[in-house]
Amino acid sequence: MSTLPSLSSAPATAPDLSAKFSAQRSTTALKTSVGEPTRLNVVVVGHVDHGKSTLIGRLLFDTDSIPQGKAEAIQKACAAEGMEFEYAFLMDALLEEQEQNITIDTTRIPFRTAARDYAIIDAPGHTEFLKNMVTGAASAAAAFVLIDAREGIREQSRRHAFLLGLLGVPQFVVLINKMDVAGYSEARYREIVSTYSAFLQQLGLAAQHFIPISAKHGDNIAHRSAQMPWFTGPTVVEALDAFEDTQTLAAKPLRFFVQDVYRFDERRIIAGRVESGSLRVGDKVVFTPGGRTSTVKTIERWSAPKRDTAEVGESVGFTLAEQIFVERGAIAAHETDTPFEDRQFRARIFWMSKNPLAPGRAYRLRLATQDVPCEVLSIERVIDATSLDEVARPAAELTVQRHEVAEITLRARQAIAFDDRRHFSVTGRFALIEGRLSAGGGIVLPGSYHRRAAGGPAPVENLFWAEGKVTPQRRAARNGHSGRVVWFTGFSASGKSTLAVELERQLFNAGRQVYLLDGDNLRHGLCAGLGFSAADRTENIRRAAEAAKLFADAGIICLAAFISPLRSDRDRARSLLAPGQFLEVHVATPLEICRQRDPKGLYARADRGEIKEFTGVTAPYEPPENPELVLHPELESVESCVTRLLELLVETDDSAYNI
Ligand code: GDP
Repeated sequence: MSTLPSLSSAPATAPDLSAKFSAQRSTTALKTSVGEPTRLNVVVVGHVDHGKSTLIGRLLFDTDSIPQGKAEAIQKACAAEGMEFEYAFLMDALLEEQEQNITIDTTRIPFRTAARDYAIIDAPGHTEFLKNMVTGAASAAAAFVLIDAREGIREQSRRHAFLLGLLGVPQFVVLINKMDVAGYSEARYREIVSTYSAFLQQLGLAAQHFIPISAKHGDNIAHRSAQMPWFTGPTVVEALDAFEDTQTLAAKPLRFFVQDVYRFDERRIIAGRVESGSLRVGDKVVFTPGGRTSTVKTIERWSAPKRDTAEVGESVGFTLAEQIFVERGAIAAHETDTPFEDRQFRARIFWMSKNPLAPGRAYRLRLATQDVPCEVLSIERVIDATSLDEVARPAAELTVQRHEVAEITLRARQAIAFDDRRHFSVTGRFALIEGRLSAGGGIVLPGSYHRRAAGGPAPVENLFWAEGKVTPQRRAARNGHSGRVVWFTGFSASGKSTLAVELERQLFNAGRQVYLLDGDNLRHGLCAGLGFSAADRTENIRRAAEAAKLFADAGIICLAAFISPLRSDRDRARSLLAPGQFLEVHVATPLEICRQRDPKGLYARADRGEIKEFTGVTAPYEPPENPELVLHPELESVESCVTRLLELLVETDDSAYNI
């Protein structure tokens, strides 16, 4: 680690800016940029003090990536404070400069060689590295692993290699640093190469090169070292330029991570980032999980001229030709190659939290922009990431301790979308979040899941996580939404049941707790014996409302479909529930259209006088004055009405969970 000297009026002691940097960096880590140039992302890992920052500073310096005069200014400031100049300061200085400009993603340090542009992913420790990798904030295409020639291989040298393998960083080079303090000894270099190669081999990995360097003195960085004539391999810059450009992401199938859905009047703009492939106006896209499809109508950019395509790395928005419900977390793909989706799968994880991972514990699983509660069902195997030995622990105490690796079975509360890590590394990795911290990261093990047919029912099982008093908050925490009543009112044949049935199906498939309380069905049981007199109708609605309230209290989204013609009856139903828990939906199909539809022949019978007090014929209907939503199924498709209902449920959820 290094401390940047002050460049202004030199204080007596150099301020430690590193804490400030890491705090600021983490807040901007997920910031995306529009039209960002494509660069090869490289991560530098290694044991603490083996020279990561020095190497980065040296690379910046030797490739002339430091602004004119900056290096000299830092050298002078060091001299003034009687401090030894460190190349690491150059990295800090560059980061400090970037932070003046908040639009730049400060997790990446840009530089270029004669051959191409690069970004070094600044990952001071493996927690940051893992977090960056699994959140997709910065996915490395290549890595440098640093090993101090004098100290040799340490735990993190091994652990980081394990992580590179686990996370699928496709290519890496091992740099044996501080060769100056190891007397530029070929024997020492060979000894480390031989031991470390054997370790990598056990992981099924192979370094592209081993390079003996001195980051401090510049040996074999941009220039071949005169001190080590015995080494005939590439310099660090040559090795960098030889990394394969994995911008082949452009040639891969489309993966678009939905970050948000913005509503402007009737338009909905689906905002996110093209992670692979490309998106064009007219493309049919599938949103996973769930499998809803629609066609891209327009591609929207905030600060760039309109174009009909969006390429890898671009953050854009798009609108759809048909209105469907899309929310943050969905992954858009083309029909020909969609991600998998499942609730349960096996995973290989790396654990970082000091609280051990144990069966039955609940975490949040973060993959791409998805963030879903999940539970550890079982732990199959625990491995020591530095020795690669299986950890023997009695079955009853099977937990995963900090820095251990394990194979576990996870079950998420709702289906999540993911890919086979061998084909799509970013969507094949996930983070496990404990509270607000990344507690672990991992990959989904191939073959441990099923591809669920789009739109098919998701299994719903009871999960027993919470102990103690079951409060509405606990129910909401388990269900991922609060209990509510959606009360559909409107004429007979207005479409209340059709909409409620479809809404119930979609909510159920998305793993929500939902129950449809249908007027006709209730009259067979709870309300049997009640007729259609004004008094009986009011009693019928009173019982229905009380039943709906019980469901909402139980944490369920209760869909109640009742003609409920009287305002006073509906208002009483509303008064049973807490503010915001009762959502009145007026299905406002005009009477003439309901009469024409007349699927059960009821209007005809009422006209003939066979049904007394039939709403709209011989009994009044009082439309709601302030309903939460008015729907016109005669003008809009069922899918579009259901989309609006789902959006209403998202907007009105006060439980801090999106439905
Ligand atoms: P990090 O924790 O991996 O980022 O390590 P730093 O880059 O902060 O380096 C740790 C210490 O090792 C610093 O005092 C550096 O000056 C020193 N160092 C780094 N590279 C070399 C090198 O090639 N030779 C020598 N002698 N010292 C080095």
